[in-house]
Amino acid sequence: GDARLSRIEKAETTCNYCAVGCRFELYGKDGEVLGVRPADPDSAPANDFSTCVKGKFGYDYVDADDRLEKPLVRKENAPDGPVGREGFREASWKEAIERVYEGLSEIRDEHGSESLSVISSSKTTNEENFLNQKFARQVLGTPHVDNCARLCHSSTVAALQQTVGYGAMTNRINEDIGETDCYLITGSNTTESHPVLATRIKQNVRDGADLIVIDPREMGLAEHADQYIRTTPGEDVAWMNGMIRYIIENDLHDEEFIEERTKHFDELKEKVEPFTPEQVEELTAVPAEELKKAAETIATADTCIFGWAMGLTQHTTGTRNVLAIADLALVTGNLGKPRAGLSAFRGQNNVQGGGGDMGPAPHRLPGYQDLGDEEVLQKFEDEWGERPPNDVGLRLPEQFHAVNDGDLQGMFIMGENPVLSEPDLDNAERALTKLDFLAVQDIFLTESAEYADVVLPAASAAEKDGTFTNTERRIQRVRPAVDSPGKAKPDQEILIQLARRFGYDWEYDSAADVMDEINSLVPIYGGVTYDRLEEETKGIQWPCFDEDDPGTPYLYEDEFNFEDGKARFVPADYAKPPDMPDEEYPITLSSGRVLYHWHTGTMTRRVGTLMNHVPESFVTIHPEMADQLGIDDQEYVRVQSRQGEIVVKANVEDTSDPGVVFIPMHFPQGAINKLTQHELDPTSFIPQYKVTSVRITPLDVP
Ligand code: SF4
Repeated sequence: GDARLSRIEKAETTCNYCAVGCRFELYGKDGEVLGVRPADPDSAPANDFSTCVKGKFGYDYVDADDRLEKPLVRKENAPDGPVGREGFREASWKEAIERVYEGLSEIRDEHGSESLSVISSSKTTNEENFLNQKFARQVLGTPHVDNCARLCHSSTVAALQQTVGYGAMTNRINEDIGETDCYLITGSNTTESHPVLATRIKQNVRDGADLIVIDPREMGLAEHADQYIRTTPGEDVAWMNGMIRYIIENDLHDEEFIEERTKHFDELKEKVEPFTPEQVEELTAVPAEELKKAAETIATADTCIFGWAMGLTQHTTGTRNVLAIADLALVTGNLGKPRAGLSAFRGQNNVQGGGGDMGPAPHRLPGYQDLGDEEVLQKFEDEWGERPPNDVGLRLPEQFHAVNDGDLQGMFIMGENPVLSEPDLDNAERALTKLDFLAVQDIFLTESAEYADVVLPAASAAEKDGTFTNTERRIQRVRPAVDSPGKAKPDQEILIQLARRFGYDWEYDSAADVMDEINSLVPIYGGVTYDRLEEETKGIQWPCFDEDDPGTPYLYEDEFNFEDGKARFVPADYAKPPDMPDEEYPITLSSGRVLYHWHTGTMTRRVGTLMNHVPESFVTIHPEMADQLGIDDQEYVRVQSRQGEIVVKANVEDTSDPGVVFIPMHFPQGAINKLTQHELDPTSFIPQYKVTSVRITPLDVP
């Protein structure tokens, strides 16, 4: 009870790193996060007492010396392109808001609303993403609003909407993933990217569940697998179609389920016909016997969870890859029941909610509502007094091309760092330099903010109220443990001020007020109120249509999300990746995360504990390949693709085939996206991040 202790704030909140959605008590004092303690397990459904190293120790960024504390305005004499802190001067909020207003409205007056675009952020809350898309659609009147979900699971969303209805994980983490009889995990480095979820899997495997891991890289989870199968990057449709074929041919499919709950089975059967185990072996290097064994394990298990992440999604065939895994789950009847399901492991803390459900996307309104639905448009118009633009806007990667083509002149970015996260960075850098006006709202002067005309200082997740939706569709509360530094403000407040300057009287006193509007406009969040979230400490899983709806722990118990209630088999066509290795670029480069860092690293690169573990970028090279190229462990090497080149340190290790190397995505020095190309999946517009052909040379070879 002394004065010193009374200044310590405690907040029961949700982790701001990955989408597992771990809950804990966050302690803060004088702007600094002191640490975390386990929350009451009743309010921590995904993690109980566990957290990973990021959730536990990843908070130094909150009071980092270079947090933005005041709005910044680019100096008159600053050169074009990126400038450091010295290229900006501090400004009052009034001036900064005025400048954003002037910058965007001048462009709009001259070129029309469609010359402006808005980028939203999965790191921010549901309420903030809802407001940001409203800012684009209502205030600016532009259809060009998108967010980083485009870059991670847009292909998952597109494929699941076509096959089962909702673009989301069908099941729960604890009760289903934690208790299933069998796993097929592919394209996911679960132990590093979703650590607490991986812990659940490992425990259940120790208790007897079967684990099959299929991946080009032999990572942490593979050590616990009953069967690890190495594949060639980018050939996933082949082995999944092959499994389906084998299952049907051997009568291992779930006939009753297929008959009662699905459509178009015959089309699937026909499409998978060419994928014999031998044919699959030829295409993917998966041994025929291994494929058969895995297919048998999956098809004979009582329940199976199909888990995947960006190894499946970030391809020009991303949507087809997810169609194929959905077909596999349907063929084996692993949907609509406990301990089974399609588990897309979503990446960022709030990518399911903020990046998906809240609709900061150019082709769907909030709640995945159809832009072409007159009734839906009228509902928004009644609430907003303005009809949202109903033409499909530009997807995120298209926005940067549009700037370079002279079709977009102004951009507003909330919490996104495209000059590290976009494919083909030169293209993104050129675009940000070319813009007539750019405003960036963030907690740091990120690599992208350095291009801005105005930088607005935002609050971090440890400083605000709101909700995040985790990967199992669970909406959970976020609460502040510390005050924001200087004059930084929650994104919600900044957006409200901006809208006001444009003449829109947004009346929200709290995040709960925004949720009221979400309740009325987004049916799947219809009953998700703050009053309930205070009471129901486990959070609520959508769809939750009204106050009396308890929410939906696992999807499709009775019906799939289509009018006739039936799931659709959508056969997946096979195609080779566009950038295949050849004589000039003989090695296949894959990208991904490491345990100690997060995305473009703006937060984790400011956390000493994490930097001590992995201080810089690297490329993993197989010992045989290293030998062949004359490269020693820890030596700096040059990696070149058809797109660009970088210099990184070599980590010689045998996690993948000799012909496959890996570079993480978290660092500006040795940025992997200098190498990646801008080919997109035609359905979801997700970039082809996962397969890039490169050559590697020691630095002393010219
Ligand atoms: Fe946070 Fe994910 Fe780690 Fe849990 S597993 S503590 S949600 S980063």
